[in-house]
Amino acid sequence: MTSNLATNLTAGRLDRARTVLAAQGVDALLLTPGAELRYLTGYDALPLERLTCLVLPVTGDAHLVVPKLERPRADESPAAGLGIAIVDWPETADPNALVASLLNSALGAAPSRIAVADRMWAIHSLALGAALAPATLTPAGPVLRELRMRKDPAELAALRDAAAAIDRVHDRVPQGLQAGRSESEVGRDIAEAIIAEGHVAVNFVIVAGGPNGASPHHDTGERVLQQGDLVVVDIGGTNAAGYCSDSTRTYALGDPGAEALAMYAVLQRAQEASCNSVRPGVTAEGIDAAARDVIAAAGYGDFFVHRTGHGIGLDEHEEPYIVSGNADPVDAGMTFSIEPGIYLPGRFGARIEDIVAVTGDGVERLNRSTRDLVVLD
Ligand code: ZN
Ligand code: ZN
Repeated sequence: MTSNLATNLTAGRLDRARTVLAAQGVDALLLTPGAELRYLTGYDALPLERLTCLVLPVTGDAHLVVPKLERPRADESPAAGLGIAIVDWPETADPNALVASLLNSALGAAPSRIAVADRMWAIHSLALGAALAPATLTPAGPVLRELRMRKDPAELAALRDAAAAIDRVHDRVPQGLQAGRSESEVGRDIAEAIIAEGHVAVNFVIVAGGPNGASPHHDTGERVLQQGDLVVVDIGGTNAAGYCSDSTRTYALGDPGAEALAMYAVLQRAQEASCNSVRPGVTAEGIDAAARDVIAAAGYGDFFVHRTGHGIGLDEHEEPYIVSGNADPVDAGMTFSIEPGIYLPGRFGARIEDIVAVTGDGVERLNRSTRDLVVLD
């Protein structure tokens, strides 16, 4: 049942991608392993120096070109059930020439404009570019963005599952967060919990105590946590469906002091205001401003040094970006983080991050663990 549903949804994506190719005047889409390939085919392929590539011409048959030794994995993937012909290439063959000949015969002419995966390795994009010369290569992002930004019901279910899993990890964080332990020790426990609570991969673990909390992407290190520290814990993983989680909570080891408590209260109001501003038609920059205005009005404007959020799905960071300058309205089905932070250099910092989904008339918060400052004795 479930796999049939997934297959139907994915087949619709191939058709929609072709429609966009035609509308944008692009002759074909070439996708190597990564989120875009998984989105269109369901194939979670290994990124290798040997070429694996979906060849999707605007008209004609789609092919999945795979190294011969990867053929069994490709055959087991949903790709075969989507009407994509799987073609393997032997170890000493030239897969780039194979891609060119498949495209030429599908299109009945040499292609002139080809979109390639945004994160295709240079060794592949350069070799494909040479094999397809004089065709122009462009990024696939603009072809797939409208599709990938709006999550379908199966994707929303997968993101809810990932969010619930990371919420359970945050619920367990207080057990191991103690003065006298290093950030790294705490981080290793959290990484184990990320897997134990239902992810297949740990994407990142940030444990940033005291002054380290003022660095938004601090490398979890050897600093020993101290009584009175604010500790920023920002964690994320990938679940079996390939979808990502990402949630930040801030903890305090005992009383962090009046100034930190006052700052946290501002941050919590800002995060709340931004979440509450989300509904279809509101601009991404409007959602950013809803958080930023609260923080600026309290005098911390210079200390909120990053955008308010990023889209999330098969990639940890994807469109839409919730940032000043992005005047695009958000729409039902879009999912992104709301993660304002305040960072006082050399002293302390705090961040609160939820993943939200835009609904037909408002917002659904996918993360549910407490957003209050968690003060540990
Ligand atoms: Zn995060
Ligand atoms: Zn994030």
